[in-house]
Amino acid sequence: GIVVENVSKKFGSFQAVDRVSLEIESGSLVALLGPSGSGKSTLLRLIAGLEMPDSGKIWLTGKDATQQSVQERNIGFVFQHYALFKHMSVRENIAFGLDIRKTGKAKVKSRVNELLELVQLTGLGDRYPSQLSGGQRQRVALARALAVQPQVLLLDEPFGALDAKVRKDLRAWLRRLHDEVHVTTVFVTHDQEEAMEVSDELVVMNKGKVEQIGTPAQIYDHPATAFVMSFIGPVN
Ligand code: ATP
Ligand code: MG
Repeated sequence: GIVVENVSKKFGSFQAVDRVSLEIESGSLVALLGPSGSGKSTLLRLIAGLEMPDSGKIWLTGKDATQQSVQERNIGFVFQHYALFKHMSVRENIAFGLDIRKTGKAKVKSRVNELLELVQLTGLGDRYPSQLSGGQRQRVALARALAVQPQVLLLDEPFGALDAKVRKDLRAWLRRLHDEVHVTTVFVTHDQEEAMEVSDELVVMNKGKVEQIGTPAQIYDHPATAFVMSFIGPVN
């Protein structure tokens, strides 16, 4: 799992992440929810090793991640606007991380076929990103992130740029995918409904601080602060 212990991060004099502590159980899907500027992406980047904390510790599967490089952390990352390689086919995009790890050709082929099936894109392997819909592209990005069997999958508003209908389909799909793959996943969103529907546990952030951690039902039924109460609001 992931353990974040009293982690803080400033940009100049601005406190982006303020003494955050949380524990994410191995194999669970946790949503990081909060308004714009609340520190969600910064926290994700700290977990990934793309930023270093000013203070505090981060543990990934029992290892002190603050002593590990980005590569050693073995993390899959998908962003809102995930740049797939435009000049590479879907297959080549998915195989990218395997190729740079010098995986054998036959193994790459079978693994890519497996992943295409997993993200329900069988038959589209030879297309190029420009020949895919936005939702299909994000599924390729997910397949690419999963290809190297990361210990942790970090998703920063992966469906943020898509229209409401596609988002809804994809979050149900992500839930099913997670039930199949069971990789420890942190999913950033500022959409309450999305967070509630998709996650085992929710971390609500505001102004760099964790306001509350709990299951969607716990948080909905017993909001711990006025902020959580107003931010979660009625869901139907
Ligand atoms: P959003 O929902 O808009 O993506 P967020 O919760 O992901 O917001 P962050 O991107 O973590 O928020 O940013 C938190 C705060 O830290 C913001 O005020 C942002 O301007 C600031 N910040 C983030 N990265 C940097 C940086 N590299 N330099 C300076 N300030 C930064
Ligand atoms: Mg963000």
